[in-house]
Amino acid sequence: MTRLAILEYPDPRLRTKAEPVSRFDADLSRLVDDMFETLYASRAIGLAATQVDAHVRLIVIDVSDDRSAPSVFINPEILLRRAIGMVEESCLSVPGVMGDVVRATKLRVRALDRHGVPFECDLEGLAAVCLQHEIDHLLGTLFVDRLSFWKRLKVRRELRRGGRAVAAAEPGGSLAPGA
Ligand SMILES: [Zn+2]
Repeated sequence: MTRLAILEYPDPRLRTKAEPVSRFDADLSRLVDDMFETLYASRAIGLAATQVDAHVRLIVIDVSDDRSAPSVFINPEILLRRAIGMVEESCLSVPGVMGDVVRATKLRVRALDRHGVPFECDLEGLAAVCLQHEIDHLLGTLFVDRLSFWKRLKVRRELRRGGRAVAAAEPGGSLAPGA
């Protein structure tokens, strides 16, 4: 397995819209394994293929404390969103930035597994928030795009200075480690 390089803001490749996966072959299997290697090495909870410059609709997630629950979502679709909450997020592709984002905290999701077998599942809390963050990556959207105007301005100014930008208005909500 190989640890992959992660694209960082403002790399324009992060704005690429991912294509659906249509071939479930050895190349895809290798990409899934390499993305998990990269996820665990980065101590993150989620990674979208877009972040490693592979522009297909593939997401890997593990929100467990002991890193024992790897989940693969290919061509994911959100069927139902419920229970809106404000959650503080961060992102491997926007290092040093945190910000509060409004997300659904309960989801019904349909996707394919790494073998192309369809499944549906319910996600809540951190897993639900993480999946929405990763689906945004597949669409070329970053979580900082979802911050309020003033917070975005602050983040941009801090990033230009090369410093650490904390856009969170107030403590609270659960912290989502890099995703
Ligand atoms: Zn991210």
